[in-house]
Amino acid sequence: MPSPHVPLAAPAAPSRASGRELVAAAIAAARARGEQLPRKPRKPRRVHHPFGLEALYFSRLRGAARRLFGEIDRWLEANYSGMLANRAPVAQRSVRAEGLVAEKQGRRDAAARFDDLDRQLSRFEEIVHRRWGRLSPDLVRQAQDIARRVNRENIRVFDEQNRHVLGVSVEAAEPWLADEEAIFAHENAALIRDIGATATRRVAALVTDCVRNGSSTSDLRKAVQEELGIATRRAALIAVDQVGKFNGRLTQRRQQAIGITNYRWRGVLDQRERPAHVAREGVEFAWDDPPSDGNPGEPIRCRCVAEPVMEDFADLLEPRPTFRTGGSASQQDV
Ligand SMILES: [Zn+2]
Repeated sequence: MPSPHVPLAAPAAPSRASGRELVAAAIAAARARGEQLPRKPRKPRRVHHPFGLEALYFSRLRGAARRLFGEIDRWLEANYSGMLANRAPVAQRSVRAEGLVAEKQGRRDAAARFDDLDRQLSRFEEIVHRRWGRLSPDLVRQAQDIARRVNRENIRVFDEQNRHVLGVSVEAAEPWLADEEAIFAHENAALIRDIGATATRRVAALVTDCVRNGSSTSDLRKAVQEELGIATRRAALIAVDQVGKFNGRLTQRRQQAIGITNYRWRGVLDQRERPAHVAREGVEFAWDDPPSDGNPGEPIRCRCVAEPVMEDFADLLEPRPTFRTGGSASQQDV
């Protein structure tokens, strides 16, 4: 399924110098508080795709798809045999032998039955549409909730990494955050609506086909269950893809905001990871010059993440001579 991910202009990165100033200020403040800092940047900790949130998002989407299909199934159980009865048996009936009047009457009957069938089918589509329409606002709120959770997790990982590598928390203003969350919710609302619309269309076509072929109720229900499987797989794809993309963008914003220009590619290294991404394991890239398919998380279904390259903060951590004010002799005077 193509992701309707709207390509956005790359976030306008704050200058590296202004980011480094934030780091320098955080280090100076920690020293002033008498905190012990590492003498040089430590090796970053391994970071991971937010699997737990991906699973949470997927279970919510899957739950909604199951509720919708449960409703479809109940409706079909109640109405399908009636629809089958309306299936025109014209071909089997020898109206010709009954004369012209009977033939005309037969045609009128058949037309009426097909009209009934059409009405039932459009009513079915209407019911499914309406049902999905009732579910969607809730799903959109769920997408907003997922956006907030991914953001909280991203902040936590970012802050932990900084405290590990540099020994300090580095805070930057995040005027872009509200927009990023809104974009995620908006795109996901569109994807969720699309799952519902596609499922409705496909199930309606399926019912029409089954009526035409005189398929049994159990065959139809089996086919509908397969459609539920398809909708569920699409939900899984959305969950992994969207959570990875969003997490990747937040990581890029946050790292660039504190003057980190480069990252090392880190993957999950399991069977599902693309060979091209496995080959990038540990390779350094510039945020501004990513591989052809994008930064980690950007390619469809990518669960790779960006480990910050922070070696060039070494000069900021070098112990500095202490200058004292207030007249008393310092080491520097000697
Ligand atoms: Zn990947």
